[in-house]
Formats: sequence, structure tokens, C-alpha cells
Amino acid sequence: MISRLEQLCRDKGLKMTEQRRVIARVLSASADHPDVEKVYRRAAAVDPNISIATVYRTVRLFEEANILARHDFGEGRARYEEIPKSHHDHLIDLKSGRVIEFRNEEIEKLQEIVARQLGFELVGHRLELYAVPKNRGSESSEKG
Ligand SMILES: [Zn+2]
Repeated sequence: MISRLEQLCRDKGLKMTEQRRVIARVLSASADHPDVEKVYRRAAAVDPNISIATVYRTVRLFEEANILARHDFGEGRARYEEIPKSHHDHLIDLKSGRVIEFRNEEIEKLQEIVARQLGFELVGHRLELYAVPKNRGSESSEKG
């Protein structure tokens, strides 16, 4: 069985070496928007001969082929995910670095309205929410 990312590579006519295949598989299996360092560790666990330089090059190649989405979540390092099948936005938990995917129809519509009001037709957007978990304990004691 080949990963979705690998299939996308094939569709784009990218030459697939064994190492590229491993990296594609790792990226396809990662739901946590990993950075290059994490992709490298996961790929090296499968094939110890993979170098971080290869991971950097491959990730850039996939990005340029438009099969990998690059995100800047304000941490000074890029994070990646397979180009999603359907659109979603991200909430970044600043405490843990966890990325939560969401989609909100009201936000989607609102953005179209804003673009229209400014005389544009919206063709895409990126939205990132930066948040910290609510401290439920202190919240309830405040209400007390
Ligand atoms: Zn995502």
C-alpha cells in the first residue's frame, strides 16, 4: 500500500527514491503538523541512513510540488502537513505547541463578506488562532 502523499508525488511525476518514499509515508502518517526535526526523527527510525539534509531537501521538493503545506505558527520553524483534502484552519496551543484543526462556517462566510465589501472575490485564506488552555479551576473559584 502506498501513502496518499506518495500517490500525489507519482501524480506530479516526481521521481521517488526509497528515502523519499519513507519521508512521504512519515508525512502522510503524521497528524500533528511536524517540523523538519520531527519528520527527520520519524524517518530515521524507519531508515537510519536518511540524513536531516535529505529531509530538508525532500520537504522543500514536496512543498514546491504543492503536495505539502507549510505553516508558520510563530515559533521560528516551519511545520508541515499533507495538502488537506478539505479546507481547515488551525488553533495553536501555545503551552504545548499542539495544533488543533477546525472549520467554522460563520468564519468562512465572514471572510467572503469582508473580501466582497473591499471589492474582491476571496480565493483562499489562512487563519491561525493562538491560544492557551483555559484554567477551569481558577475560573470557577472566581465565580464562587
Ligand atoms: Zn492542518
